[in-house]
Amino acid sequence: MVGSWADTAGTLPLSSSSVRTALWHAPGMHVEECVFCRVVSGDVRSEQVYQDGHTIAIMDLRQPGWPQAVHILVMPREHVEVIDELTHEQATQLMTSVVRVSRALRRACQPKGVSVWQSNGEAAGQEVLHVHVHLLTRGSGDGLMRIYPSAPDTPSFEDMAPVAESVRVRIGDDR
Ligand SMILES: [Zn+2]
Repeated sequence: MVGSWADTAGTLPLSSSSVRTALWHAPGMHVEECVFCRVVSGDVRSEQVYQDGHTIAIMDLRQPGWPQAVHILVMPREHVEVIDELTHEQATQLMTSVVRVSRALRRACQPKGVSVWQSNGEAAGQEVLHVHVHLLTRGSGDGLMRIYPSAPDTPSFEDMAPVAESVRVRIGDDR
């Protein structure tokens, strides 16, 4: 099937979360079903802007603000579902490619700015469970991304301290 992986992502059997979980998490099955793995293998058509031994970057099929804005995805070749499953080496390779593509995007499009974002898990809006980083060129007042839907809370340092400590003590587990 050549065509829109965005459409594919939207038409997977998503009505049942258990079906989707089985589809994407069954050992040895999820990689074949992963549309980004199929992009990497060339089984699904994409417009590539960069590739190296570890990562690729493609034009996202959904282009908000097109043609003033340009939307690119950068991802590891290897199937890794969410960012915290990346090894340090994979993370370094991915971020190096993000920076490299961002520089090229600035040279090519000379945007006023570039937004870089990355989503993990359905609740965060991740539609394809294969780690990917979004780059989107920005213009002043383009209204393309709204991080805060309303005025954010501003808790005190005292309120935030226990949460920060909870995270801090677990950083030592990282490898
Ligand atoms: Zn994949």
